[in-house]
Amino acid sequence: MTDVSNRNSGRSRDRELGMHREITRRDFLNGMAVGAGGALASPWLGGLLAGQTSAASAQDRPGYYPPTLTGMRGSHPGAFEVAHALRDGTFLEKAGKPVDTGETYDLIVVGGGISGLAAAYFYRKQAGTAARILILDNHDDFGGHAKRNEFHLGGRIQLTNGGTVSIESPFPYSKEARGLLTELGIDPPVLQKKYSANSALTGLGFGYFFDKETFGNERLVTNAPGSFYGGLGASGKWAEFLARTPLSSQAQQDIVRLQEAKVDYMEGVAQDEKKARLSKMSYKDFLLNVVKAHPDVIAFYQSRTHGLYGIGIDAVPALDCWAIHFPGFQGMGLDRVPSKGLSFTALGEVTPQEEFHFHFPDGNASIARMLVRGLIPGAAPGNTAEDILTAKLDYSRLDHPDSAVRIRLNSTGVLARHVGDSASAKQVDVVYGREEKAYSVRGKGVVLACWNMVIPYLCPDLPAEQKEALHYGVKVPLVYTVVGLRNWGVFQKLGVRGISCPGMYHTSMNLDQGPAMGDYKPAQSPDDPILVHMLRTPCQPGLSAREQQRAGHYELLATPFETFERNIRDQFARVLGSAGFDVAREIEVITVNRWPHGYAYEYNPLWDPDWPEGKRPCDIARRRFGRITIANSDAAAAAYTDQAIDQGYRAVQELMSA
Ligand SMILES: Cc1cc2nc3c(=O)[nH]c(=O)nc-3n(C[C@H](O)[C@H](O)[C@H](O)COP(=O)(O)OP(=O)(O)OC[C@H]3O[C@@H](n4cnc5c(N)ncnc54)[C@H](O)[C@@H]3O)c2cc1C
Repeated sequence: MTDVSNRNSGRSRDRELGMHREITRRDFLNGMAVGAGGALASPWLGGLLAGQTSAASAQDRPGYYPPTLTGMRGSHPGAFEVAHALRDGTFLEKAGKPVDTGETYDLIVVGGGISGLAAAYFYRKQAGTAARILILDNHDDFGGHAKRNEFHLGGRIQLTNGGTVSIESPFPYSKEARGLLTELGIDPPVLQKKYSANSALTGLGFGYFFDKETFGNERLVTNAPGSFYGGLGASGKWAEFLARTPLSSQAQQDIVRLQEAKVDYMEGVAQDEKKARLSKMSYKDFLLNVVKAHPDVIAFYQSRTHGLYGIGIDAVPALDCWAIHFPGFQGMGLDRVPSKGLSFTALGEVTPQEEFHFHFPDGNASIARMLVRGLIPGAAPGNTAEDILTAKLDYSRLDHPDSAVRIRLNSTGVLARHVGDSASAKQVDVVYGREEKAYSVRGKGVVLACWNMVIPYLCPDLPAEQKEALHYGVKVPLVYTVVGLRNWGVFQKLGVRGISCPGMYHTSMNLDQGPAMGDYKPAQSPDDPILVHMLRTPCQPGLSAREQQRAGHYELLATPFETFERNIRDQFARVLGSAGFDVAREIEVITVNRWPHGYAYEYNPLWDPDWPEGKRPCDIARRRFGRITIANSDAAAAAYTDQAIDQGYRAVQELMSA
């Protein structure tokens, strides 16, 4: 993967790239306001909040509005230090005796992502609107991975998703998940029909950038067949496209064969046996050892699974790649029916369901915002799926003493312990860390809608078997970078809306223009500013999926914003420079949504056993423990919004019947 941080850090190259340019980032150090007048502050920095009680916190200050923060976002500085200190066994030691807030609740939810918000929603629906609920989250904003990035460029609001993109799932939404959307006023198929066709980008195609470090020669090749997210592409077009690339002629021929020929590479083998074999080999091994493709072909496909799996084709089973329509299987006579040996995502791909794929301009942050609007009166105006987009959320309402539901941000749960014996206790004490202090609250029940790996530290009384199961999954790290440009003229000139860059630091760059909905009107002219969405997955081919993910966590946390910025600018310069793009001039703003703990870990047939029904680690991990229940998408081992909602629902039912 091309990384210029060491290779090209000379001052003159930095000038060419515009590293000296004042972009919005300059007001922020890694995502935190430090300039004079900045209303926001990291809860971890400089003791700005030291000594404050929960009632006088940053989120109550005038102007607190995290969606407009830029720089390092996602897991931003200030969000993870308490949790890491908890893991290292130092937090409670340093923080001392928790300050008793004297607050009591019917329900305390740890984790303010979609699962935690949904749990609060379901609980309130059953217990009534007087139920007192506290939601704690370690980030400066709610929503978990469903975060909103809001920019104001050229006098116009521009929205995008900092994490979760769209309402889609490999499986049909459950009655509860779909019901929740309906009650919020979200009807995905109707919204899709109404808003999918209004993009000014319609008509632009896709391209590939071949970097010299990976492909020997540097070249942007536009007018690629199909889209680069898999798919077979238009028949007959591959040879013409590949002839313009720096790939060797053998590699070109093999790609054409792979994309277009109908060959049964396992002739004479029974269908079940074919599927069994394909589920136990990586797609890379399939290409090299079954298709017998030239090794140069690998680099072309290596990162194609990054967006969906967070790892490359070396670690994704070939059978999964068949299910998600990768090339090479079209002559193998495999029936598209659910079968053993597929991961959750791939199994869903071959399971029939209602066709829709709706994407709010700020992704599923809109669902989180609508949940908050429903839970907390006065948090945001409006009542439709359209007006939520431009509704300005009043963060000072979120943790208001007058409200039955409170959301306390910048607050990491560090201990959940029953008052008395877990089998008979009627209450649970929860301690949370804010800044370097600890505070305690008491609840009649607790839903842990945070990540599985945190729970053993947070809940030390759990049985050993459950703790072990909670530690099993390793969340998938990934980065969604957003770059604001002055205009998209260069993309228009090249005729592309997206460019796959298989060997670069970010492996894709796509113009990002959500639908015009309600008062939200994205730019329509190529002369207007636009956002570019880029994907980086810090994977390390050669290791197992879990090891790649662990290595990625460390890499992401150790990489400063400046390294991201230099690599981003270098990539823009190299990919678009030949078309006249002046990187030092055109980039207005950069936000790096860093998710070291991103997708929930899905079981991978290459590395994980085929557990019997009910015996998967997630089944054991999510067992109720007294008056503490466990939600979150990790509890389903499936990285989808509906799964997070379903787990929130289950956790509440378990608590209600405890
Ligand atoms: C980059 C990205 C893109 C995605 N795209 C899609 C998509 O297009 N469609 C889709 O359906 N799904 C998508 N997903 C998956 C989807 O976002 C998740 O399944 C879902 O949002 C998870 O919600 P959650 O509440 O279970 O977890 P999270 O969103 O992770 O929320 C849990 C919250 O708990 C907090 N927390 C953890 N520990 C503590 C603690 N000790 N104290 C307090 N708070 C704590 C976390 O920081 C987090 O804020 C995507 C995920 C990622 C990362």
